[in-house]
Amino acid sequence: MDTMRNLREITDLKDKKVLMRADFDVPVSEKGEIEESFRIKKQKETLDYLIDKGAKVVMVAHISAVPSFAELMPQLHMLLGHEVNFIKSLSDIQTYLSAYAGPALVDNIRQNEGEEKNDPEFALSLSKGFDYYVNNAFAVSHRDHASISGVPKILFGYAGFLVEEEVAQLGKVISAPAEGKVIIMGGAKASTKVPVIKHLISEAEAVLLGGVVANDVLKEKGQDMGSSVVDEDVHLLLMNLDLNNSKLHIPEDFIVYDNKILDIGDHTMKKYIDIIASAKLIVWNGPMGLFENPAFAKGTNEIAQAIIASSAFKVAGGGDTISALDKIGLLEKFNFVSTGGGAMLAFLAGDTLPGLAALD
Ligand code: ADP
Ligand code: MG
Repeated sequence: MDTMRNLREITDLKDKKVLMRADFDVPVSEKGEIEESFRIKKQKETLDYLIDKGAKVVMVAHISAVPSFAELMPQLHMLLGHEVNFIKSLSDIQTYLSAYAGPALVDNIRQNEGEEKNDPEFALSLSKGFDYYVNNAFAVSHRDHASISGVPKILFGYAGFLVEEEVAQLGKVISAPAEGKVIIMGGAKASTKVPVIKHLISEAEAVLLGGVVANDVLKEKGQDMGSSVVDEDVHLLLMNLDLNNSKLHIPEDFIVYDNKILDIGDHTMKKYIDIIASAKLIVWNGPMGLFENPAFAKGTNEIAQAIIASSAFKVAGGGDTISALDKIGLLEKFNFVSTGGGAMLAFLAGDTLPGLAALD
């Protein structure tokens, strides 16, 4: 991934047809309003650059909250600062390119069966007519999908500025010296988080656990978990992780409701806050408790405040972590916020991301 081709290497983009894999996978309210536009705004730099250099840009992206981008186009115009034309179907791309009228977005790429299957025929038809491919969707780069790893087998693929920035910042997290490096892991989906702990703990000063991830460790250590949420296969999941490693910090007291651990307790919070205060680099993924309910958001909010108060370089990622931070107005205070949830974790776990490998 050190040899990822970068967009700036293309010397002449004038009238070149560029297929850009963008990331517009945002939450949408029932009224059809984009609830969180962080990811969309992060696409702007690369899009602006391509337009500025005179390229003909067609974007492809997926969305999970609604079936189609159709209703979201006016909001996309606003957020991107460009009129973006809508291409309803893949079969209309060629016609569009021959009468190019500004940047365009093809509708939800996952409407096509070949996308998630990474069907080579599908990748070929998607590539048709383009000179270059640009991956600016870091958050999907851990997926072996046609628009991520299939197309760059056919077209010359380049990393967009967002992908470049993610790799540089998260690379820094991995390579930073252990002294002062604090990793905070919470939330659910422990199967995606434990590999990060395993990969980074030897090169970290402390790993602070909360959420269901902490529940899993407590269970494995033999604690009675009552009706708390715990993963099924904890034993398998935690295999090869030394639970007695002095760097690994697990909660010692809790907020319990209805026989469920739903947040870390005050003593644990104070201990974590002390460790955070002397950190030099902090990476945070996953809330400390069931933060959606204000009664169980204290741990998450206080940890967030402590991170902001520290002089450490601050990195955060994960959909729920971002929305928790956004809720209390602290998102902008981080030095770097990753657009990737799963992709960030896979990267930090040392995995090869198919979408990035394809740009080598
Ligand atoms: P992220 O999206 O930041 O990576 P996850 O998706 O892994 O985070 O986890 C976030 C979810 O974990 C939230 O919905 C939160 O309510 C839940 N959660 C955290 N702690 C607990 C807990 N103790 N019990 C049940 N759910 C929890
Ligand atoms: Mg989540």
